[in-house]
Amino acid sequence: MGLDAVLARLRAAEAAAGREAGAVQLVAVSKEQPEARVRAVLASGHRCFGENRVQEAEARWAALEPDFPGVELHLIGPLQTNKARAAVARFAVIQSLDRPRLARTLADLAQARGACPRLYVQVNTGAEPQKAGVLPGEADAFLADVRRMSLPVEGLMCIPPVDSDPVPHFRLLRSIALTAGLAGLSMGMSDDFEIAVAEGATVVRVGSAIFGSRAARGALSPG
Ligand SMILES: *Cc1c(COP(=O)(O)O)cnc(C)c1O
Repeated sequence: MGLDAVLARLRAAEAAAGREAGAVQLVAVSKEQPEARVRAVLASGHRCFGENRVQEAEARWAALEPDFPGVELHLIGPLQTNKARAAVARFAVIQSLDRPRLARTLADLAQARGACPRLYVQVNTGAEPQKAGVLPGEADAFLADVRRMSLPVEGLMCIPPVDSDPVPHFRLLRSIALTAGLAGLSMGMSDDFEIAVAEGATVVRVGSAIFGSRAARGALSPG
């Protein structure tokens, strides 16, 4: 457990997959983690973090950034259209682009600002009704739409169904990305990031294996 252990495992997975050391970007998922744990990871030099809520991320990182410049934040949770303006101001990368209306809003904001976060389109590879993301069968058409809006889409992101073999989901994501000519693949979390690297991930999103369990938070820091 901890950043060093996860980095060592990531480097080993890269080597095993014949990939260069550092080829895979590690997003440390700090959502719902106590500030002390996040500060400890920042103090060790890591600068790439993932958050799933815009407002919580704004508050937390406004306080941390003066002490730790150079942080790159990734939004990994669903983005409501009415929070898009705040999100583009706060995040370097938005990994949860998943519907035409949000794409349109981001394109308008990008035009007004002359800049846009790097984007990943989330694909609901398991076609789970409760989960965000475009359906696999709709991904090609959605990606074509997004391209017409000149949005900077770097790749695809997926969250495979819990308690199922992630490999078919990683492969599906990769094949959609190949068809679309996209290089970025954000896939793999604490339980399966090494498998994801073997399947071609370029970005992994790891929370509990770095910071400890989110559920334990109340017990560790009451109040
Ligand atoms: C919470 C979360 C993660 C990290 O999950 P862990 O199992 O703690 O590594 C990764 N990706 C997304 C989209 C998440 O919401």
